[in-house]
Amino acid sequence: ASARILSSGMRLPPLPSIRDLVKLYKLQAMKQLSQNFLMDERLTDKIVKSAGRIDNNDIVLEVGPGPGGITRSILRRQPQRLLLVEKDARFTETLQLLRECARPLDIEVEIYHEDILRFNIEQHVPDTTQRLHLIGNLPFAISTRLLINWFDDLSRRRGAFRRNDTCMTLTFQKEVAERICAQVGSEQRCRLSVMSQIWTEPVLKFIIPGKAFVPKPQVDVGVVKVIPLKRPKTELPFPLVERVVRHIFSMRQKYCRRGYSTLLPLEGREETTQALFQRADVKDTMRPFELSVAECLRLADAYAEHLVAHPEVAKYDYRAPKQALN
Ligand code: SAM
Repeated sequence: ASARILSSGMRLPPLPSIRDLVKLYKLQAMKQLSQNFLMDERLTDKIVKSAGRIDNNDIVLEVGPGPGGITRSILRRQPQRLLLVEKDARFTETLQLLRECARPLDIEVEIYHEDILRFNIEQHVPDTTQRLHLIGNLPFAISTRLLINWFDDLSRRRGAFRRNDTCMTLTFQKEVAERICAQVGSEQRCRLSVMSQIWTEPVLKFIIPGKAFVPKPQVDVGVVKVIPLKRPKTELPFPLVERVVRHIFSMRQKYCRRGYSTLLPLEGREETTQALFQRADVKDTMRPFELSVAECLRLADAYAEHLVAHPEVAKYDYRAPKQALN
């Protein structure tokens, strides 16, 4: 058991180690919930430090606290409120223990046995006068989906993103973390890099070797701080941008016009594609990974303008057998 002195000089009461708690409560990791636990306090502290300053007026939402390693590091930073969203009810007792420890420190800890993909942040954090931090050692199985959902929320200034200073400090498989941050021309550049860099500035803070987790995953893990841009690079609706970027990257090794052209019906496809590339001032023989965010967005703008004159094209799906457009 260890007691830790907090910045305020107060102590978090002595607690059994995470390793002992996992043993005591027989918390075997479940593969289907992507459970890999971090037991090393220096690493959990380092993740939370990456989130930047957390003060006693701030709210923190932790995704998937599990047995509570990162949770302890967050408590040591003394936010005003800490929301824990955990799908696996087996962790409730260990989290309740932390809630009791936090009571004398005036930190409100709320435990939600819920799926983060369905969790209504706006309902649980109705007041926007406080800054919100999103922190989590994310389950691999949902990490990309969650991030894309949050970009959607960010583009609409809803959910966690009604304020423009809500930062995310999250873990991903190392390769995914590198893709999120990949710059133009890099081998890892993909749809996720462009989507991430339209609404945020992602920063790869550090890598945690797989062996630091219990059980050890097959891969290393990257900690990424995802900082919303004060001014997003587009005002276009999220689904339209997502559609255009997905099509551009659907044929990675080909010229970018190939994937982009599948947004358009077969009839007149070549000519319209050429016209839209001209309108966007983008060279259509570049490979998708060579396109900057600005170029992808100019292509999205050209497509959006095309839809004004041809709204039926929005419903076009090139994989559907044969479609009447009107
Ligand atoms: N935070 C702990 C740590 O660092 O040791 C556990 C991290 S583990 C990689 C991921 C955690 O997310 C697990 O506790 C798992 O039960 C939880 N989880 C998985 N899917 C979830 C979901 N959809 N919503 C909320 N929590 C989820």
